[in-house]
Amino acid sequence: MILNWKDIDTVLLDMDGTLLDRHFDDHFWLEHVPKRYAEKHKIPFKDAQVMLVNHFRSQENTLNWTDLDYWSAQLGLDIPLLKEEVDHLIAVHPFVIEFLLYLKQHRKAVYLVTNAHSKTLALKMRKTRIGSYFDAIVSAHDLGLPKEDAAFWPKLASRIRYTPERTMLGEDSETNLSSAAEYGIRYLIYVSRFSSTIPPIASRNFSSIHYFSQLIPQDGSTEINLAGIPLPHDPI
Ligand SMILES: [Mg+2]
Repeated sequence: MILNWKDIDTVLLDMDGTLLDRHFDDHFWLEHVPKRYAEKHKIPFKDAQVMLVNHFRSQENTLNWTDLDYWSAQLGLDIPLLKEEVDHLIAVHPFVIEFLLYLKQHRKAVYLVTNAHSKTLALKMRKTRIGSYFDAIVSAHDLGLPKEDAAFWPKLASRIRYTPERTMLGEDSETNLSSAAEYGIRYLIYVSRFSSTIPPIASRNFSSIHYFSQLIPQDGSTEINLAGIPLPHDPI
C-alpha cells in the first residue's frame, strides 16, 4: 500500500497497544488482578488466574471487557485502585510523540478512539500526558458500542467529522481494523509491536508497522510505501 499524506486529513488512533505499551494491560489483568484475587480468597494464584482468564474471555468483544466498574462489581475488588498500584508500567511506545508532532505540523485532525473506560483513560492521560495531542478523545463507552462492532464507525461519524476514504486508522486489533474496513475507512495500519515484551508478528491482512516512525516520510516527501519498509530493529 502507498500512503500519501496529501490524501489523508483525519487520523484515528487506538490507545492500548497502539500508542501505549500493552505490557501494562497484560500484566494488570493476567498477573496483578489474579494475585490480589487469590490473596483475598486465600486460593492458589494459578487457580485464580485460570478462573479469571476464563471469566474475562466470556466478555471479549463487548464493552464489559473494558468496563472497570463491571469488573469491580464482578470480582469484589477495587479495580481502579489496583491499576494505580502498577501504574509505573504505563508507557508510551517509542516514536509515538514524534508521529503525533508530525501530524500536528501537517494539520491533520487527530482523534484518540478507544474502547477504554473513562477511569482507565483518566489514569493513562494523567500518567502519559499525551491528551493534548488530540483534537478529541472518544471512548466507545460513550457511544454504547465497542469498536469490534461495524456499527461503531458510522456512529463515530455522528461525534466527529471524518471522511472514511481520507482517513487513516492505527490499531493493534485486526478485528477492529476489519470492522473499520467494512465501513470503508481506507488507510488501515496494524501495529504489530503492541507490547514491549511480545515479539511482533506482521498481519497477513493489513499493512503492518512496528513503530509509527515508519509513517513519517523522510527527505520532505509526503509518501510512504508500506510494502517497501524494512522492519526496524528496536531503538537504542
Ligand atoms: Mg488496542
